[in-house]
Amino acid sequence: MQDAGDHRRAMVQHQIIARGICDARVIAAMGDVPREAFVPDVPLALAYADGPLPIGMGQTISQPYIVALMIEAAGIKPGDRILEVGAGSGYAAAIIGRIAGHVYAIERIALLADRARRTMAALGYANVTIPCGDGTKGWPAAAPYDAILIPAAAPVVPPALFAQLETGGRLVMPVGQPLQQTLMCFTRHTDGGIATDDLGGVRFVPLIG
Ligand code: SAM
Repeated sequence: MQDAGDHRRAMVQHQIIARGICDARVIAAMGDVPREAFVPDVPLALAYADGPLPIGMGQTISQPYIVALMIEAAGIKPGDRILEVGAGSGYAAAIIGRIAGHVYAIERIALLADRARRTMAALGYANVTIPCGDGTKGWPAAAPYDAILIPAAAPVVPPALFAQLETGGRLVMPVGQPLQQTLMCFTRHTDGGIATDDLGGVRFVPLIG
């Protein structure tokens, strides 16, 4: 009989490392955060399955590999201040919080934001703040951010989010149409220019707002 630690180790080995994620901090955080705490209503093995899962209100917790891919692409370092738009269950914010200094994870659905806050408190993760609101406007109160992650799709990046990105910072977001998007990483350069990287095809729930 496998316990949560066994499932987590298998997930990290077969879904994360085997697919090319190599940032040691991301690998350690994925091995540290109990995913089952963020999806309490599903059987343990399913919590660590290789795919997204429903979390209620028509929303999903992202596939573990996609969580790792977005966080690795964002280049998060200890001490960084990070914005996530779409906290959902809080799982990705918790992973980011194991690496960064502080995470602001904004969620538009109050019920999900409340639940994510309770999960974070139960786990004792004190460096994750979960405001409720429309994240397309960012969270100016704590800007600028060293990285911004948006696990929800839109045809373009909301301009307010670029405006809250630190020089040298990265913004990772699925860009495209409802059923087909490309995961993009944008880097803001000192001269104001933006470099873009294509991380591959993905399918996310929509960014509303
Ligand atoms: N990272 C999350 C996790 O670990 O569970 C999964 C995020 S889920 C794929 C996308 C989330 O974005 C949903 O919870 C949805 O309610 C939220 N969302 C969509 N549009 C939003 C907006 N404008 N502001 C804040 N949250 C938004």
